[in-house]
Amino acid sequence: MSFYGLLGAALGHSLSPAIHKYLFRHLELTASYSLFSVASEQLAAAMDGLKLLGAGGVNVTVPYKRQIIPLLDELDPAAARLGAVNTIAFYQGRTVGYNTDYTGFGIMLDQAQVGVRNKTAVVLGSGGAARMAAYWLSDHGCSDVKLVSRSQPEPATEFAVIDYAALSGLSPTDLLVNATPVGMYPDIGASPLIANQLAPFATVIDLIYNPQTTCLLKLAYDQGSQTVNGLSMLVAQAVAAQEIWQQRRIDYAIINEIIPCLLVQLNK
Ligand code: NAP
Repeated sequence: MSFYGLLGAALGHSLSPAIHKYLFRHLELTASYSLFSVASEQLAAAMDGLKLLGAGGVNVTVPYKRQIIPLLDELDPAAARLGAVNTIAFYQGRTVGYNTDYTGFGIMLDQAQVGVRNKTAVVLGSGGAARMAAYWLSDHGCSDVKLVSRSQPEPATEFAVIDYAALSGLSPTDLLVNATPVGMYPDIGASPLIANQLAPFATVIDLIYNPQTTCLLKLAYDQGSQTVNGLSMLVAQAVAAQEIWQQRRIDYAIINEIIPCLLVQLNK
Protein backbone atom coordinates (compact mmCIF):
# COMPACT_ATOMS: atom_id res chain seq x y z
CA MET A 1 0.00 0.00 0.00
CA SER A 2 1.40 3.45 -0.91
CA PHE A 3 1.74 5.93 1.89
CA TYR A 4 1.68 9.71 1.89
CA GLY A 5 1.55 12.39 4.58
CA LEU A 6 2.03 15.90 5.83
CA LEU A 7 5.35 17.05 7.27
CA GLY A 8 5.11 19.99 9.68
CA ALA A 9 5.54 21.09 13.28
CA ALA A 10 2.08 21.34 14.92
CA LEU A 11 -0.46 19.42 12.87
CA GLY A 12 -3.22 18.67 15.38
CA HIS A 13 -6.14 20.24 13.47
CA SER A 14 -5.06 19.48 9.90
CA LEU A 15 -7.82 18.79 7.36
CA SER A 16 -5.33 17.26 4.90
CA PRO A 17 -5.89 13.58 5.88
CA ALA A 18 -9.65 13.95 5.24
CA ILE A 19 -9.03 15.62 1.84
CA HIS A 20 -6.52 13.01 0.65
CA LYS A 21 -8.58 10.08 1.92
CA TYR A 22 -11.50 11.42 -0.12
CA LEU A 23 -9.20 11.69 -3.16
CA PHE A 24 -7.86 8.14 -2.70
CA ARG A 25 -11.45 6.82 -2.71
CA HIS A 26 -12.27 8.90 -5.79
CA LEU A 27 -9.15 7.62 -7.60
CA GLU A 28 -9.80 4.03 -6.39
CA LEU A 29 -6.37 3.83 -4.77
CA THR A 30 -5.39 1.86 -1.69
CA ALA A 31 -3.20 4.35 0.12
CA SER A 32 -2.84 6.12 3.47
CA TYR A 33 -2.15 9.75 4.43
CA SER A 34 -0.69 10.46 7.88
CA LEU A 35 0.46 13.45 9.90
CA PHE A 36 4.23 13.59 10.53
CA SER A 37 4.97 16.20 13.20
CA VAL A 38 8.72 16.66 13.54
CA ALA A 39 11.02 19.14 15.27
CA SER A 40 13.20 21.31 13.04
CA GLU A 41 16.40 19.42 13.92
CA GLN A 42 14.70 16.12 12.95
CA LEU A 43 13.64 17.24 9.48
CA ALA A 44 16.60 15.71 7.61
CA ALA A 45 16.24 12.41 9.48
CA ALA A 46 12.50 12.40 8.76
CA MET A 47 13.20 12.83 5.01
CA ASP A 48 15.73 9.96 5.11
CA GLY A 49 13.17 7.80 6.90
CA LEU A 50 10.42 8.58 4.38
CA LYS A 51 12.79 7.75 1.50
CA LEU A 52 13.92 4.52 3.12
CA LEU A 53 10.38 3.37 3.86
CA GLY A 54 9.20 4.11 0.32
CA ALA A 55 6.80 7.03 0.77
CA GLY A 56 4.89 7.96 -2.39
CA GLY A 57 4.93 11.65 -1.52
CA VAL A 58 4.51 14.20 1.26
CA ASN A 59 3.12 17.65 1.67
CA VAL A 60 5.11 20.19 3.68
CA THR A 61 3.60 22.89 5.85
CA VAL A 62 4.54 25.64 8.31
CA PRO A 63 7.36 26.15 9.24
CA TYR A 64 9.31 23.91 6.82
CA LYS A 65 8.36 25.11 3.32
CA ARG A 66 11.72 26.87 2.90
CA GLN A 67 13.83 24.76 5.27
CA ILE A 68 13.06 21.60 3.27
CA ILE A 69 14.61 22.92 0.04
CA PRO A 70 18.30 22.07 0.68
CA LEU A 71 17.24 18.54 1.67
CA LEU A 72 15.77 17.80 -1.78
CA ASP A 73 17.52 16.25 -4.80
CA GLU A 74 15.65 18.45 -7.28
CA LEU A 75 13.42 21.50 -7.35
CA ASP A 76 10.69 22.21 -9.87
CA PRO A 77 11.57 25.60 -11.48
CA ALA A 78 8.27 27.15 -10.32
CA ALA A 79 8.96 26.15 -6.71
CA ALA A 80 12.53 27.45 -7.03
CA ARG A 81 11.24 30.87 -8.11
CA LEU A 82 8.78 30.97 -5.17
CA GLY A 83 11.46 29.76 -2.73
CA ALA A 84 8.92 27.45 -1.07
CA VAL A 85 7.93 23.79 -1.39
CA ASN A 86 4.64 22.32 -0.19
CA THR A 87 4.68 19.02 -2.14
CA ILE A 88 7.44 16.43 -2.48
CA ALA A 89 7.37 13.47 -4.86
CA PHE A 90 9.65 10.46 -4.40
CA TYR A 91 10.80 9.02 -7.72
CA GLN A 92 12.79 5.82 -7.12
CA GLY A 93 14.54 7.36 -4.15
CA ARG A 94 15.00 10.84 -5.69
CA THR A 95 13.08 13.69 -4.08
CA VAL A 96 11.58 16.51 -6.16
CA GLY A 97 9.97 19.60 -4.59
CA TYR A 98 6.94 21.41 -6.05
CA ASN A 99 4.67 24.27 -5.03
CA THR A 100 0.97 23.49 -5.49
CA ASP A 101 -0.16 26.41 -3.27
CA TYR A 102 0.34 28.55 -6.40
CA THR A 103 -2.14 26.38 -8.36
CA GLY A 104 -4.52 26.33 -5.39
CA PHE A 105 -4.49 30.11 -5.01
CA GLY A 106 -5.48 30.53 -8.67
CA ILE A 107 -8.28 28.00 -8.46
CA MET A 108 -9.65 29.69 -5.32
CA LEU A 109 -9.80 33.04 -7.17
CA ASP A 110 -11.34 31.40 -10.25
CA GLN A 111 -14.05 29.69 -8.21
CA ALA A 112 -14.87 32.95 -6.44
CA GLN A 113 -14.89 34.73 -9.83
CA VAL A 114 -12.29 37.24 -8.72
CA GLY A 115 -10.64 38.81 -11.78
CA VAL A 116 -7.12 40.17 -11.37
CA ARG A 117 -6.14 41.58 -14.78
CA ASN A 118 -5.25 45.29 -14.47
CA LYS A 119 -6.31 45.22 -10.80
CA THR A 120 -4.30 46.54 -7.87
CA ALA A 121 -3.51 44.33 -4.88
CA VAL A 122 -2.11 44.47 -1.37
CA VAL A 123 -0.87 41.30 0.35
CA LEU A 124 -0.45 41.20 4.14
CA GLY A 125 2.69 39.31 5.26
CA SER A 126 6.03 38.50 3.69
CA GLY A 127 6.29 34.74 4.24
CA GLY A 128 5.96 31.90 1.72
CA ALA A 129 2.21 32.30 1.14
CA ALA A 130 2.44 36.09 0.75
CA ARG A 131 5.22 35.81 -1.85
CA MET A 132 3.37 33.04 -3.69
CA ALA A 133 0.19 35.18 -3.82
CA ALA A 134 2.17 38.23 -5.00
CA TYR A 135 3.79 36.21 -7.81
CA TRP A 136 0.45 34.70 -8.88
CA LEU A 137 -1.25 38.12 -8.97
CA SER A 138 1.61 39.71 -10.88
CA ASP A 139 1.91 36.73 -13.29
CA HIS A 140 -1.81 36.98 -14.05
CA GLY A 141 -1.91 40.67 -14.91
CA CYS A 142 -2.29 42.66 -11.68
CA SER A 143 -0.95 46.11 -12.45
CA ASP A 144 0.40 46.78 -8.95
CA VAL A 145 1.16 44.37 -6.08
CA LYS A 146 2.43 45.51 -2.69
CA LEU A 147 3.39 43.45 0.35
CA VAL A 148 2.72 44.73 3.87
CA SER A 149 5.30 43.74 6.46
CA ARG A 150 6.03 44.61 10.09
CA SER A 151 9.74 44.79 9.22
CA GLN A 152 12.05 44.54 6.20
CA PRO A 153 11.40 41.03 4.79
CA GLU A 154 14.20 38.48 4.65
CA PRO A 155 15.15 37.43 2.02
CA ALA A 156 14.49 40.60 0.01
CA THR A 157 11.58 40.56 -2.43
CA GLU A 158 11.09 42.12 -5.88
CA PHE A 159 7.70 43.49 -4.78
CA ALA A 160 7.20 46.89 -3.16
CA VAL A 161 6.97 46.58 0.63
CA ILE A 162 5.03 49.01 2.82
CA ASP A 163 4.39 48.99 6.56
CA TYR A 164 0.99 48.83 8.30
CA ALA A 165 1.00 52.58 9.02
CA ALA A 166 1.13 53.28 5.25
CA LEU A 167 -2.24 51.52 4.77
CA SER A 168 -4.11 54.56 6.10
CA GLY A 169 -2.92 56.67 3.13
CA LEU A 170 -3.75 54.04 0.49
CA SER A 171 -5.89 54.95 -2.54
CA PRO A 172 -8.78 52.60 -3.53
CA THR A 173 -7.35 49.13 -4.18
CA ASP A 174 -9.12 46.17 -5.78
CA LEU A 175 -7.79 43.25 -3.76
CA LEU A 176 -6.52 42.57 -0.25
CA VAL A 177 -5.00 39.17 0.57
CA ASN A 178 -4.32 38.17 4.17
CA ALA A 179 -1.30 35.86 4.10
CA THR A 180 -0.51 36.20 7.82
CA PRO A 181 -1.71 33.70 10.45
CA VAL A 182 -3.55 36.47 12.35
CA GLY A 183 -7.15 35.40 13.04
CA MET A 184 -6.50 31.68 12.65
CA TYR A 185 -7.94 29.16 15.15
CA PRO A 186 -7.58 29.33 18.17
CA ASP A 187 -6.99 33.13 18.07
CA ILE A 188 -10.24 33.75 16.23
CA GLY A 189 -10.87 37.15 17.82
CA ALA A 190 -7.77 38.69 16.19
CA SER A 191 -7.67 40.61 12.91
CA PRO A 192 -4.58 41.92 11.07
CA LEU A 193 -6.48 45.13 10.18
CA ILE A 194 -9.14 47.23 11.89
CA ALA A 195 -12.37 48.29 10.15
CA ASN A 196 -11.22 51.67 8.86
CA GLN A 197 -8.02 50.19 7.33
CA LEU A 198 -10.28 47.99 5.17
CA ALA A 199 -12.07 50.89 3.48
CA PRO A 200 -9.92 50.95 0.29
CA PHE A 201 -10.50 47.28 -0.63
CA ALA A 202 -13.28 45.99 -2.94
CA THR A 203 -12.42 42.29 -2.41
CA VAL A 204 -10.85 40.77 0.70
CA ILE A 205 -9.31 37.28 0.52
CA ASP A 206 -8.17 35.51 3.67
CA LEU A 207 -5.96 32.44 3.12
CA ILE A 208 -7.11 31.18 6.52
CA TYR A 209 -9.86 28.51 6.40
CA ASN A 210 -10.34 27.85 10.12
CA PRO A 211 -12.54 29.66 11.02
CA GLN A 212 -14.29 29.96 7.67
CA THR A 213 -15.27 33.55 8.47
CA THR A 214 -12.34 35.20 10.15
CA CYS A 215 -12.68 38.44 12.05
CA LEU A 216 -11.09 40.19 9.03
CA LEU A 217 -13.69 38.73 6.63
CA LYS A 218 -16.52 39.73 9.01
CA LEU A 219 -15.30 43.34 9.06
CA ALA A 220 -14.88 43.34 5.27
CA TYR A 221 -18.33 41.86 4.68
CA ASP A 222 -19.93 44.43 6.99
CA GLN A 223 -18.46 47.25 4.91
CA GLY A 224 -19.73 45.69 1.65
CA SER A 225 -16.55 44.07 0.26
CA GLN A 226 -16.61 40.73 -1.56
CA THR A 227 -15.04 38.13 0.75
CA VAL A 228 -13.26 34.83 0.04
CA ASN A 229 -11.74 32.33 2.50
CA GLY A 230 -8.89 29.84 1.95
CA LEU A 231 -10.80 26.55 2.06
CA SER A 232 -11.02 25.97 -1.70
CA MET A 233 -7.30 26.82 -1.97
CA LEU A 234 -6.50 24.16 0.62
CA VAL A 235 -8.46 21.53 -1.31
CA ALA A 236 -7.14 22.64 -4.71
CA GLN A 237 -3.47 22.45 -3.62
CA ALA A 238 -4.16 18.90 -2.41
CA VAL A 239 -5.74 17.91 -5.74
CA ALA A 240 -2.72 19.38 -7.55
CA ALA A 241 -0.40 17.37 -5.27
CA GLN A 242 -2.28 14.16 -6.12
CA GLU A 243 -1.93 14.99 -9.82
CA ILE A 244 1.84 15.09 -9.35
CA TRP A 245 1.99 11.93 -7.23
CA GLN A 246 -0.37 9.85 -9.39
CA GLN A 247 0.86 11.40 -12.68
CA ARG A 248 -2.68 11.88 -13.96
CA ARG A 249 -5.18 14.71 -14.41
CA ILE A 250 -8.00 15.07 -11.87
CA ASP A 251 -11.18 17.02 -12.57
CA TYR A 252 -11.08 20.05 -10.24
CA ALA A 253 -14.88 19.85 -9.92
CA ILE A 254 -14.12 17.40 -7.09
CA ILE A 255 -13.27 20.40 -4.89
CA ASN A 256 -16.98 21.15 -4.54
CA GLU A 257 -17.66 17.57 -3.39
CA ILE A 258 -14.90 17.67 -0.77
CA ILE A 259 -15.67 21.08 0.76
CA PRO A 260 -19.03 20.07 2.34
CA CYS A 261 -17.30 17.11 4.07
CA LEU A 262 -14.67 19.46 5.49
CA LEU A 263 -17.33 21.89 6.71
CA VAL A 264 -18.84 19.07 8.79
CA GLN A 265 -15.41 18.50 10.37
CA LEU A 266 -14.78 22.24 10.89
CA ASN A 267 -18.19 22.82 12.46
CA LYS A 268 -17.88 19.95 14.98
P1 NAP B 1 4.85 32.21 7.25
O1 NAP B 1 5.90 31.85 6.24
O2 NAP B 1 5.07 31.97 8.70
O3 NAP B 1 4.56 33.78 7.01
C1 NAP B 1 3.57 34.48 7.72
C2 NAP B 1 3.88 35.96 7.62
O4 NAP B 1 2.86 36.62 8.33
C3 NAP B 1 5.19 36.36 8.25
O5 NAP B 1 6.20 36.43 7.27
C4 NAP B 1 4.91 37.70 8.89
O6 NAP B 1 5.26 38.75 8.00
C5 NAP B 1 3.40 37.71 9.05
N1 NAP B 1 3.02 37.56 10.46
C6 NAP B 1 3.30 36.52 11.28
N2 NAP B 1 2.79 36.76 12.51
C7 NAP B 1 2.18 37.97 12.44
C8 NAP B 1 1.50 38.79 13.40
N3 NAP B 1 1.32 38.38 14.66
N4 NAP B 1 1.02 39.98 12.98
C9 NAP B 1 1.20 40.40 11.70
N5 NAP B 1 1.85 39.67 10.76
C10 NAP B 1 2.33 38.48 11.14
O7 NAP B 1 3.47 31.50 6.90
P2 NAP B 1 2.89 31.16 5.45
O8 NAP B 1 3.24 29.79 5.10
O9 NAP B 1 3.26 32.26 4.55
O10 NAP B 1 1.31 31.16 5.77
C11 NAP B 1 0.63 32.36 6.06
C12 NAP B 1 -0.87 32.08 6.24
O11 NAP B 1 -1.42 31.55 5.04
C13 NAP B 1 -1.19 31.07 7.35
O12 NAP B 1 -2.34 31.48 8.01
C14 NAP B 1 -1.47 29.80 6.58
O13 NAP B 1 -2.35 28.93 7.27
C15 NAP B 1 -2.14 30.36 5.33
N6 NAP B 1 -2.02 29.43 4.21
C16 NAP B 1 -3.17 28.89 3.72
C17 NAP B 1 -3.12 28.01 2.67
C18 NAP B 1 -4.39 27.42 2.12
O14 NAP B 1 -4.32 26.40 1.42
N7 NAP B 1 -5.54 28.01 2.37
C19 NAP B 1 -1.88 27.67 2.09
C20 NAP B 1 -0.72 28.27 2.60
C21 NAP B 1 -0.80 29.15 3.66
P3 NAP B 1 6.08 40.05 8.52
O15 NAP B 1 7.01 39.56 9.57
O16 NAP B 1 6.75 40.53 7.27
O17 NAP B 1 5.05 41.02 9.02
